[in-house]
Amino acid sequence: MVASLFAQPIVDISPSVAWQGKVIEVKIPAAGITGVEGKFLGQKFKLYPQEDNFVGIIGVPTDQKPGNYNLRLIITQTDGKTIEQVEMLKVWPTKFPVTRYWLKPSRNKLRARNIIDNEWSEIEKVLLHESEKRLWSGQFALPVKGEKSQGFGQLQIINGKRSGSHKGVDLAVPIGTKVFAPNAGQVVFTQKLKAFGGTVVVDHGQGIHTLYFHLSKFAAEVGQDVKQGDLIAYSGNTGVSTGAHLHWGMSVHNLRVDPEQWVKYEM
Ligand SMILES: [Zn+2]
Repeated sequence: MVASLFAQPIVDISPSVAWQGKVIEVKIPAAGITGVEGKFLGQKFKLYPQEDNFVGIIGVPTDQKPGNYNLRLIITQTDGKTIEQVEMLKVWPTKFPVTRYWLKPSRNKLRARNIIDNEWSEIEKVLLHESEKRLWSGQFALPVKGEKSQGFGQLQIINGKRSGSHKGVDLAVPIGTKVFAPNAGQVVFTQKLKAFGGTVVVDHGQGIHTLYFHLSKFAAEVGQDVKQGDLIAYSGNTGVSTGAHLHWGMSVHNLRVDPEQWVKYEM
């Protein structure tokens, strides 16, 4: 038996079940620790110092098979030694309804693979950039007040063909509705795209980004710092869209998760 002076830190995982399409928060007391890196479902993620803890947020893919998975934490102690701690996490299924809609040919042609791929690779560049500083605090607010016309993760059948799952929440609002920053962050992307339409991305720090599609007009510039409630854009019906709405997306370490969880709970 090997004696260790270092007691295994108690890891706080919240919520205790990892729902498909949602996030979990992993917290470790910072005492005796200089750094923590996590690995879950083959993805590495960083835990950041936050008050007396190291805190990390990880997303669960919508199509992750329910079951038990290991969450590995590589902990660097103040004495320079590295230890690995393994926690078991249960992935639980989320019910995603099926939604069918029709796109007219002029809109449907914007869904061409090469257009989507090129545009997404531009957006992804900013999502991959992970700034050390946490800019958001507390709960997120809805960027617009509107009825939800399509929820996160819904399985889409477009023009009779099975398409990918819906990567955000659609809020039905008239064209020109003011879109407000749901939390503090920095505007890192504003571009008029063919498929995604007018697009804005806000970086909230530590790998958390929010995305806004189908906009008619921008009201903030790249590099601009925003706080909760600041005007960032005006909603529209541009790109692959069947009517006036805002598509609101949330990205956690470049994985799209349900933004509604962030409005309901403090992260
Ligand atoms: Zn949408």
